[in-house]
Amino acid sequence: MNPVNADLHCHSTASDGTLAPAQVVRRAHANGVDLLALTDHDELLGLAEAADAARDVGLRFVPGVEVSVSWLDQTVHVVGLNIDPSHPALVAGLHQVREGRDGRAGQIAAELDRIGIHGALEGALRYAGNPALVSRAHFARYLVEIGIARNVHDVFLHYLARGKPGYVEHVWATLDEAVGWIRGAGGVAVIAHPGRYRLGHVEMDLLFERFRDLGGEGVEVCCGAHDGGQVLAFSRVARKYGLLASRASDFHGPEDSPVDLGRAPPLPPDLTPVWTRLQ
Ligand code: AMP
Ligand code: MN
Ligand code: MN
Ligand code: MN
Repeated sequence: MNPVNADLHCHSTASDGTLAPAQVVRRAHANGVDLLALTDHDELLGLAEAADAARDVGLRFVPGVEVSVSWLDQTVHVVGLNIDPSHPALVAGLHQVREGRDGRAGQIAAELDRIGIHGALEGALRYAGNPALVSRAHFARYLVEIGIARNVHDVFLHYLARGKPGYVEHVWATLDEAVGWIRGAGGVAVIAHPGRYRLGHVEMDLLFERFRDLGGEGVEVCCGAHDGGQVLAFSRVARKYGLLASRASDFHGPEDSPVDLGRAPPLPPDLTPVWTRLQ
């Protein structure tokens, strides 16, 4: 076990998590986490409540965000740690990304409507704790509710993943913008769950080279999405590019997430943890 039980990526009802920010903090504390970052998708709304709750229970809290980025033909997520949630360029940039999300939500609903699934936007909004942040996860929960699929995983498999009838291509922030906003707000930029991206070796190298050149500093090595082979592969990436290593559950809720808060595997001991930059 790492001496620090750090969990530097998770979600609340400010985006597509199912627990309120204060509930996330209390669950993390109960699970033995002693350094927590809340990193909602494209949104800073939950940070004040989480920080208050963390103060109450005596848990070290890092304000964070997970920015949606378009890179080549993929969506890549960049986590920002220790950002100043009032920084104007970050606030404005995320506002723009959320507006893009609004438009996409309408398009997703229209695509689902075409295949006979009606009222999906209203349905998704009922699951969205924050109407300014509609995620595919909210659509997925509604589609499970109305019996379209057995579980959220199957909804993604058959309806919401690329190439499926409810998928809409979308242009998110650029990598340059996301890293720029995070660094401008005094934060540390980290590539989230790289094992999830369908990028070949050449494209993956291009991503990490560009990310480093922009001043990106970290990569999630141990996270909810990675199997043992991916932990080894992205440990090598961290060494190759001199990146700090992060550990993260990417927790979305007790019923939604395979890995609970604070339960990602420990980092390989030779890597430098990203939390050494957060002291
Ligand atoms: P969005 O950012 O709106 O495109 O939604 C992405 C979110 O959907 C992710 O952050 C996850 O919460 C969820 N998600 C994506 N793929 C899957 C999947 N295969 N199974 C379950 N949830 C998924
Ligand atoms: Mn999510
Ligand atoms: Mn993500
Ligand atoms: Mn996430």
